[in-house]
Amino acid sequence: MKLLLSLYLFVAVLLTQFFAAYFFSKGRANYLKAFSALTFCVSFYLFGYLMILHNSNLQELIFWNQIQYIGLPFISVLWLTVALLYTKNIYTLSRRLAVLLFFVPVTTFFMRLTNNWHHLFYKNWEVKQLFGYYFLYMERGFWYYFNISYTILCLCLTIIIYYLEYQKKRAGYTRPQFMVFFFASLLPLIGVMLIVCAFNKWSIDYTALIMPISIFIIGYGIIKYDFLEIKTLARETIFENSLDGMIILESELKVIDYNKAAKEIFGALNISLDTFPLESIFNREPELLEIFKSEATQEFSSVVAGEERFFEVVTVPLGISDGRKMRMLKSIRDITDKKKVQEKLTVLATTDSLSGLYNRPEFLKLAQRELSWAKTHNEKLALLMIDLDLFKSINDTYGHAAGDKVIREMGNIIMTGFRKTDFAGRLGGEEFAVLLKNTSLEEAKRVAEKFRETVSKKKVVYEKRKISFTVSIGVASSSCDNNSNIEDILKQADNALYKAKAKGRNCVWAVK
Ligand code: GH3
Ligand code: MG
Ligand code: MG
Repeated sequence: MKLLLSLYLFVAVLLTQFFAAYFFSKGRANYLKAFSALTFCVSFYLFGYLMILHNSNLQELIFWNQIQYIGLPFISVLWLTVALLYTKNIYTLSRRLAVLLFFVPVTTFFMRLTNNWHHLFYKNWEVKQLFGYYFLYMERGFWYYFNISYTILCLCLTIIIYYLEYQKKRAGYTRPQFMVFFFASLLPLIGVMLIVCAFNKWSIDYTALIMPISIFIIGYGIIKYDFLEIKTLARETIFENSLDGMIILESELKVIDYNKAAKEIFGALNISLDTFPLESIFNREPELLEIFKSEATQEFSSVVAGEERFFEVVTVPLGISDGRKMRMLKSIRDITDKKKVQEKLTVLATTDSLSGLYNRPEFLKLAQRELSWAKTHNEKLALLMIDLDLFKSINDTYGHAAGDKVIREMGNIIMTGFRKTDFAGRLGGEEFAVLLKNTSLEEAKRVAEKFRETVSKKKVVYEKRKISFTVSIGVASSSCDNNSNIEDILKQADNALYKAKAKGRNCVWAVK
């Protein structure tokens, strides 16, 4: 009888140790870590009991009882934790919840450790003999009962959780799994009840006998119902290791889970993510709150470590809505590199590389937009058409590279020679246009004259030779013809330029 019991316990200790190591190594998901801890505690408890069976010396019995209490106080609360995590009633064990759940077990551990000083746990202990073997008889103290009540509470909650989950899953292959876990959790509860009611009579630790069966049943559940569920694991691994930040929101826009990348992104933004509603997470960032509340794809930018970074937020609904708002996944991608490439491409596509001014299509597009705006707001605008005089001879005299340098210099003069609100483009060759906002023809003429004079005073040094150059300018205004589009105004300015050239160059001509 004793040998059989010892063998049974020995196998159980090995099994629980194996489970503890196995689940720890597989334990990416939180419930697997909790299950690993549970089996680890069970193995301590069983090992202690095994040693108690083989000892008769009071001191040694007390020592092995203490070994049991390394694991024992935590078993029921870990059972509950596994249930909470596995059924996704909670997603992580927050610090607050951990303190709440583990306060009694930790206190029990210390109470048992320091029992000699206060005798609150065991009032008294002695060695008794029964059925040919010795056992430790203990008179229970106040904290013992308190702890056993807590143990029963945890186990009851555990079986309620599994039962509710079983009820909730009306169909599907995971349903029987919860029945199995329900029974597996019911067994230790029965064991504890037997201890409370009958331990004094027969001195057998029923829980120690029943616990391995529970573990066997869960082992069965693991194999039969895919406890590790490779799909879930794969999904969780992908979720956790995704380079995109991911946040799962409950129907009330409360954060229920997030991955490493999300934590990093928000850490860099000095926003601490926790299982809170969005409102409290973004209480100091109303704009971000709106972005994360929106279900459309959104972008935002923020300065991270002195550099502006851009993020894209995409919303993916999770599951089917049942009238209430459904759960959502917010995926946050750092699109800074993409944005920078886009910006570069935009600059390349819209800018003339030699002068640094807008190219012809971009200038025309912006000018047309400006003209439409000016028309609806009853404002005038003017256009200068600027052409370098006898540029061909500059090329012929100094070479093409010198000509290029003059065009580059023209870009600089134009950029610095007008108001910030005006804009300019290189329309082609040695021809430029400037759009002057909210400017009458008369004012434009004056501005053009001043500009012509500025240019005539500039010199470009090329291979130690100073090159002077002049421009002729044609001026037109939107007020000349109310129905005109930008092409018409451009044509008018071009005509005026032609007149300026005809007049002898280095002068301004405005449309009458
Ligand atoms: P006008 O005063 O009548 O405008 O005489 P112009 O010589 O400036 O006019 P024309 O149209 O006869 O010649 C323009 C010259 O500009 C011809 C072309 O070789 C030169 N050109 C056009 N684009 C560039 C360029 O990108 N770089 C250089 N260096 N020269 C250019
Ligand atoms: Mg010219
Ligand atoms: Mg020309």
